[in-house]
Amino acid sequence: MPAVRQKLLRWYDTAARDLPWRQTRDPYAIWVSEVMLQQTRVETVVPYYQRFLASFPTPRALAEADEDAVLSHWSGLGYYRRARLLHAGVKEVVTQYGGRIPEDADSRRSLPGVGRYTSGAIGSIAFDKEEPVVDGNVTRVLARLFRIDTPVGASATTNRLWDEAAQLVPGERPGDLNQALMELGATICTPKRPQCKSCPIAGECKAYASDEVDALPVPRARKAPKEVQLAAVVATRGRGSEVEVWLVRSEQSLFGGLWGLPMLGREAVDESDARRALREARISARLDPEPAAQIAHVLTHRRLQIDVFRATAARGTESETLRRFDPQQLGRVGISTLTKKLLAAALPG
Ligand code: SF4
Repeated sequence: MPAVRQKLLRWYDTAARDLPWRQTRDPYAIWVSEVMLQQTRVETVVPYYQRFLASFPTPRALAEADEDAVLSHWSGLGYYRRARLLHAGVKEVVTQYGGRIPEDADSRRSLPGVGRYTSGAIGSIAFDKEEPVVDGNVTRVLARLFRIDTPVGASATTNRLWDEAAQLVPGERPGDLNQALMELGATICTPKRPQCKSCPIAGECKAYASDEVDALPVPRARKAPKEVQLAAVVATRGRGSEVEVWLVRSEQSLFGGLWGLPMLGREAVDESDARRALREARISARLDPEPAAQIAHVLTHRRLQIDVFRATAARGTESETLRRFDPQQLGRVGISTLTKKLLAAALPG
């Protein structure tokens, strides 16, 4: 496919957006950017990426950082598991590879959190390796370019996409070729109203030729988001500027590993669930019988309805999983956007 390759590279040279991670070939910086960009928009990622690298400029700096500090830099980006896997991966780079990200693809792929996509991005962009990448944008471009009409997510489709990407990548500038595919998907070959008339590879595009652009890629069958009812408790000690709030940390919670409110859910929640959430967190407190607020929150696969209860004069014994916080200090620890929202709705005064 030399013609497609050439056209993509020529287009990329003139049309690529100027993004901070495109000004470096540091494999660590590229790793950070790729992890942040998974499921998150470019405009959102830019300031997070800059702050993260300013605080943790090297794999060693990140490996030595406290998990709370890492998660607080991620707070608001969501999908916190990504941050924890990146942290684990970088620790392994330090212990196994002396702080240098391995050039060899098999070693890279063995790092926690580094799948085929992330490994391909680091390998091609930082090390000039002819390794393919397939993400959502590349999937859309390739499905249209080659008229792949099986559903996204089906194993036959995945295999075909990776095969096509692997055939395109060999040659000069493999990293730029991969980025050109991603950039084309992000800016021209968009899900709705793609700009085929301005597309550098319209002449080779099978979907364009057969007028099937809008029908491709064939979406995966979607499950309806699950409705979940939850009771959350804002348990506080003290008053006014002295107030402190109890937070719990559980690997099993919705926001695995982040500090959050005691929370429990079932089909219909009431005060008894809030009481049980306090008991499970080992907090004793005076619970208001009625919720102070009702909050709706949407996650990728779940629609949450949360009754937020207040509990005052709360006592407990601090531990690895239960701690009191001054609400003003919460910016320094990892808490989710949802926890912030619940606290804003129900913290007294
Ligand atoms: S011609 Fe249209 S559908 Fe085909 S790759 Fe270009 S933008 Fe996408």
